[in-house]
Amino acid sequence: MSHSTAPVRGQTFRRDAPGYEAARQAAMWNARRPDRFPDIIVQANDVYEVVQAVRLAKREGLRVGVRSGGHSWAGNHVRDGGMLLDVSRLRDAEIDRHAMRARVGPGCAGHALASRLGRHGLFFPAGHCQGVALGGYLLQGGFGWHSRTLGPACMSVEAIDCVTADGDLVHASATENPELYWAARGAGPGFFAVVTRFHLRLYPRPRVIGFALQRFSADHLDDVFRWLHAIGPEVSPAVELQVLISRGLGGIRGPGLEVVAPVFADGLRAALRATAFMRDSPRGARRSLRFVPSGLGLMYRGVMNHYPDDHRYAVDNMWTRAPIDALLPGLHRIVETLPPAPSHALWLNWAPPAERPDMAFSMEDRLYLALYAVWRDAADDHRFDRWPVERMRELAHLATGIQLADENLGQRPAKFVADPNLVRLDAARAAHDPAGRFHPWMGRP
Ligand SMILES: Cc1cc2nc3c(=O)[nH]c(=O)nc-3n(C[C@H](O)[C@H](O)[C@H](O)COP(=O)(O)OP(=O)(O)OC[C@H]3O[C@@H](n4cnc5c(N)ncnc54)[C@H](O)[C@@H]3O)c2cc1C
Repeated sequence: MSHSTAPVRGQTFRRDAPGYEAARQAAMWNARRPDRFPDIIVQANDVYEVVQAVRLAKREGLRVGVRSGGHSWAGNHVRDGGMLLDVSRLRDAEIDRHAMRARVGPGCAGHALASRLGRHGLFFPAGHCQGVALGGYLLQGGFGWHSRTLGPACMSVEAIDCVTADGDLVHASATENPELYWAARGAGPGFFAVVTRFHLRLYPRPRVIGFALQRFSADHLDDVFRWLHAIGPEVSPAVELQVLISRGLGGIRGPGLEVVAPVFADGLRAALRATAFMRDSPRGARRSLRFVPSGLGLMYRGVMNHYPDDHRYAVDNMWTRAPIDALLPGLHRIVETLPPAPSHALWLNWAPPAERPDMAFSMEDRLYLALYAVWRDAADDHRFDRWPVERMRELAHLATGIQLADENLGQRPAKFVADPNLVRLDAARAAHDPAGRFHPWMGRP
C-alpha cells in the first residue's frame, strides 16, 4: 500500500467542533463516561480510512486509542489528547462453512456472528453478552460460550490483518509477522496496531445447548460455595459452572445465589450426564431447574437482564486458586456490601488445562471472581463506584492476577499476563511501535 499525505476521509471531529461531544459519548457503552477528551475522533468506514487515520496520527504526533464496540468498562480507548480511532463500522463477516473459517471485521458483535453461524450449523466461542464487539473481545482473550472446552476465543484466531504504527496494512499469522500475531492473542487494551480483520477457525454447533439452575438465599453461602469449590475441578469442561450473587433474584428477598450450569453437548443424554452433579447440591434451594434446552438465544436474554443499557458500571476482578476457607470471609463481605440489583458478583469455575498454545494470553486460574456495580443515576456514583475495587483490594492477597475482560487497571494495577509474557509484550511493542503511537494499558506508563 503506497504512502499518502491525502487528508483523512471518514467522519472526523476535532475537539470543540460540532458533533465532537456526541461522537465521544457514543464511543462508550458504559453510561459512566470518563472525563477524558481526545483531540480528534475519526470514524473510519473501511480499511483505507484506517490507514489514512493512522498516518494522520503519525504526521501530527498523536497517540491513538482504538474502539471497536466501545464495551471496555473503563473506556480504555477514550484518553486525554491524541486520536480516538473508531473502527466499529468495519463489521463485515464472511463465512466459509465448508472450510469452517470466517473473516470478520472488528466491529462485528459476537452475538451477531453466533446467530449467523448457528444458521449454518456452526459455532464460535463468542462472549456472553449482546453488543460486545469481536475487536476488543478477541484481543483480550475472550471468555465465551463453551470456552472451557474450546479455550479462550483468541485461541481460534488463526491470523489478523492490521494497520501498524507506520500506517501499513499487514497480515500476521504464525508464519507472517509472528510477533504481532502472538501479541494479538492476549494483549487486549495494550495491543499496538489496529486490527481490521480477524481470520477465525469455526466449530460444529453443539447439538444441545441448555442449562441447569438452582437458586439459594445467601444464608446458604457457606454450604453452596464449599460444595462448588470441592467439585469444580471434576465438573465436565462442557459445563460453565457459575454463581451469580445478586439482590435481584426472583423468589428471594435480599441477596441470593443463582448456581447456573450452561452446558454444550452432542446430545440430551450427554447434557444430562454433564449436569447430573447438580442433584448433589446442598439442601435448601428455593428454585431448581433440572435442565432447560434453551439454545443460545434464551441464554443471551437471561444474561442481558444483568447488563442493562444506559446504566453506569464499575467493575473489577481476580483469578484465584485459594482454598475455600480463605475465600469465604471475602464472599461474605461481598454479600454484606452488595449494592442493589442489577449489581452482582460472578463466580466462575474455570479450571483451565495445564497447557495452552504460545500466545500473550497467559493469566488464568481455577476460579474467576468478578464484581459489577450497576446503577442508573450519576448522583449515586459516590455510593457504588468503589464497591468492586475496594472488595478486590481486600481479596488481592488471594489473587494470582486479573482477566483483561473486566479490567480496572487505571484504578488498580494488577498482573494480567504471566511475567515473561509481559517482558515479551514490551519488547514487541518497542519493535513494532517504537514511537509509542498506540496507548499502552492504563495504569502503565
Ligand atoms: C456487557 C458486557 C459483557 C461482557 N461480556 C464478556 C464476556 O462474556 N467475555 C469476555 O471475555 N469479555 C466480556 N466483556 C468484556 C469485553 O470483551 C471487553 O470489554 C472488550 O474489550 C470489549 O470489546 P469492544 O470491541 O466492544 O471494546 P472497545 O471498548 O471498543 O475496545 C477495548 C479496547 O480493545 C482495544 N481494541 C479494540 N478494538 C481494537 C482494534 N480493532 N484494534 C486494536 N485494538 C483494539 C483497544 O485498546 C480498546 O481500548 C463484556 C463487556 C461488557 C460491557
